[in-house]
Amino acid sequence: MKKRILALGGDGIGPEILESGLRVATHLAQRAGIELHITHDLLHGASWDVHNTFCTEEVLHQAKTSDAVLVGAVGGPKWDNIRVPGGAECQDGLMYLRHHLKTYLGLRPSRAWRALLHRTPFRKDVAEKADVLILREMCGGAMFATERGQRQVNGLRQGFDMTAYDEAEVARFAHGGFQLARQRRGRLVSCDKSNVMESYKLWREIVSDVAQAYPDVAFENMFADNCAYQLIMRPNDFDVVIGCNQLGDILSDLTAVFAGSLGMLPSACLSDNPNQGPVFGMYESTAGSAPDIAGQGIANPVGTILSVGMMFNYSFGLPEFEPQLEAAVSGVLASGILTPDLGGTATGAEMTDAILERIP
Ligand code: NAD
Ligand code: MN
Repeated sequence: MKKRILALGGDGIGPEILESGLRVATHLAQRAGIELHITHDLLHGASWDVHNTFCTEEVLHQAKTSDAVLVGAVGGPKWDNIRVPGGAECQDGLMYLRHHLKTYLGLRPSRAWRALLHRTPFRKDVAEKADVLILREMCGGAMFATERGQRQVNGLRQGFDMTAYDEAEVARFAHGGFQLARQRRGRLVSCDKSNVMESYKLWREIVSDVAQAYPDVAFENMFADNCAYQLIMRPNDFDVVIGCNQLGDILSDLTAVFAGSLGMLPSACLSDNPNQGPVFGMYESTAGSAPDIAGQGIANPVGTILSVGMMFNYSFGLPEFEPQLEAAVSGVLASGILTPDLGGTATGAEMTDAILERIP
């Protein structure tokens, strides 16, 4: 079997954690008998500095002809306020790829790790079984508003981003959520602010309609503010939580608290529901480019490494590696080989070595 990966390091700690992910991907490919072709290119700030665009057409073309894209992270103060002509997708390299590759289904799992419970603000009994999948819609909502900008209203500057979701966008996303809930513990919460916003009223109506097709999944609608509160008060009770682009972004960083560090969280952005077989996807740590620790070699590589497990599962159709990687990570955490965000002194490369040694 042949597989093509496009590898985009991006900015800040991105290239460091990407390197860890690629080492693990290469190792797993050898074990699986996969001939892995890796193409490297630039994204976002790194691309801007060379090409004056956050994502070149060549990168988009490479992504389209790959089975998966593995990303480090993007962004940094140097580029955060650059505005270029074009829509929301033109302002950010990752968003450009998500938009054009239609990777609408954002999986952001977070779980408690026994060896890191003491790094969380929780009592052991509150969060020791936490294992949540935040599902974030990746291609619409306020973040991709087509009506956006700044204007003068009554002599004052007003900034605006119009939130809009059509019923097809919500329905395809909700189906993805229910299908994934079936493969997990069969529970799904949809969060919205339908008490106060029109776009969320439609959201709730469509998700509730889709829920009818999945009577085997325990389904509940929740207002997003309450959902944030309940997630922290009783994390063990949640399984899959679905939300729009913006709410999913915020809730996924929130649930990183269960894992003990934002650097522990993997993610997948899938172009289709994965229950019918392998789908194209983009894989990256949920966190950002961490400019505060970039270039020191101390970034936690686990989020990217676990993203590689998701890549083998969802884009290569090889689910067996995900649990093996989780077990290897668990073993390394217990052994105390930890990057500074986890309370240790190991470098990212040392932690990656230790994980590789524990993969069967
Ligand atoms: P961030 O996620 O980069 O960092 C938040 C905190 O978590 C920092 O203290 C950082 O040191 C820590 N952290 C993150 N990843 C870590 C890792 N692997 N190991 C150890 N510690 C880690 O968020 P920010 O500082 O708000 O944003 C920085 C830049 O990243 C911004 O330009 C933002 O736009 C961008 N961003 C990119 C992505 C992405 O690439 N998917 C996601 C979020 C933010
Ligand atoms: Mn985010």
